[in-house]
Amino acid sequence: MMAIMNPGDADSWLALAKQFLSLFGVVLAALVIVLVSVGLVFEFLNARHPERKIQKGRTNKRKWKELYRAPGSLVIIALCFSGGLFAQMKGWTITPFELNWWTGPLFLAVSVLLYDTWFYWIHRMLHCKPFYRFHALHHKSLAPTVWSNHHESLPEAFFNQAYYLIIPFFLPIPWQMLVLQKLYDQVSGMLGHAGFEHFASPAGRTPFPLASTVFHDQHHSHFAYNFGHTFSIWDRMLGTLYPKYDETLEGFEHTKPDNAQ
Ligand SMILES: [Zn+2]
Ligand SMILES: [Zn+2]
Repeated sequence: MMAIMNPGDADSWLALAKQFLSLFGVVLAALVIVLVSVGLVFEFLNARHPERKIQKGRTNKRKWKELYRAPGSLVIIALCFSGGLFAQMKGWTITPFELNWWTGPLFLAVSVLLYDTWFYWIHRMLHCKPFYRFHALHHKSLAPTVWSNHHESLPEAFFNQAYYLIIPFFLPIPWQMLVLQKLYDQVSGMLGHAGFEHFASPAGRTPFPLASTVFHDQHHSHFAYNFGHTFSIWDRMLGTLYPKYDETLEGFEHTKPDNAQ
């Protein structure tokens, strides 16, 4: 990666293309590793804790259909993410801050907040009639599974991930924090679709701003609610929070294993 950042590189188009493809390949490989490892961890956890299933009356047998769409989704994610990172490394964006004890947490927090805002409004847009045809595929799973995260059309993947392509032009975020955010984004996206609420906590409900697995699961089962991702802030402010969200999540805080007395 340091070779890519070397300002002495010969910037011929061919050299640039080779450098970009190297970065793209590394990002894509990392995304595949995250997808498979996180997916398997959740399949293991879900099998051990059937009592944590959110939609108890519904079974999703679409795993392979959902995974069939994953390669296209991962390629778009990798293109957008590598594109933004590459532009920053080449000095085509605003100059990022050096990573230190305060720039790291500050810019990571700002970027996570910005992305949640981006995601909420893009998601609202995708639910509008002219754009819904790009989002309909993702909603075929009424009860999502950990594999549903990448069950999306290519335009939908691009609308969501374009954030990573353009944010280095507006936010001087250290590249290490962008990588960390992307990693978080991939894992939390799969967690949000897991179909089982393993991490219920008061932090996921009012008065706290965080969301949960129940939060996005209810978006799939009730459709017109819960458009955010990491936070419930926009949904609470704009009246799109599912009315029984807080009480459903609280119910899972008291769920005991099936074999517990
Ligand atoms: Zn939706
Ligand atoms: Zn979803």
